[in-house]
Amino acid sequence: MTIEKSRFHQFIIKQNNFDRLGFENWVFYPGMLFNDHHKWWSDAGIRRQPHEGVDFCFYRDTTGGIRTIGYKTKIPALYDGRVAHIHDDFLGKSIYVQHNTYDERRHALFTIYGHTIPVNGLNTGDMVSEGNILATTANVREHARILPHVHITVAWIPVSFPHERLTWKMINAPQITTLCNPLEFIDCKFTVEREWVDPEDYFPAKD
Ligand SMILES: [Zn+2]
Repeated sequence: MTIEKSRFHQFIIKQNNFDRLGFENWVFYPGMLFNDHHKWWSDAGIRRQPHEGVDFCFYRDTTGGIRTIGYKTKIPALYDGRVAHIHDDFLGKSIYVQHNTYDERRHALFTIYGHTIPVNGLNTGDMVSEGNILATTANVREHARILPHVHITVAWIPVSFPHERLTWKMINAPQITTLCNPLEFIDCKFTVEREWVDPEDYFPAKD
């Protein structure tokens, strides 16, 4: 099955004005990509589960400088769909959107947005279009020394699975959910760095 790639990248750049200094590409450090086993924050230890998605946090501008997206970054929907569930996660709220795309097993395509502050009035059952702003990045620094980032998961979930029971535990249950690499659904330029980033370098210096 071929699924058209989302224009998520074009939307997030435009909605957040990331190209005001010239946007070159996204930058992923170890721990940020799909299935990575390490954390990219705090002690860079091992994650409890391999990464269920991809973290958009850093990008390169056209001068070669590395920038972070920051708190209150607007987060667009990858595709048209319906908000299936919203619940608290450990850094904000997770938003589940079900799309009108099914595989041969009657599993629906879902995109899931982690650590967010949903836009005012966003509720379960709402229809959304590709590019609609669902949320902004939560101020995760309040909870942990993690830079604000957009966590995206793409997954196939059985149509019969009750939406109110969607949790990260269920997303990590391979007998229920089939996880995909979100970068296969997003048309964007990126580099994968081999050196670790020290997120502390990107926190403003303390007074
Ligand atoms: Zn993540």
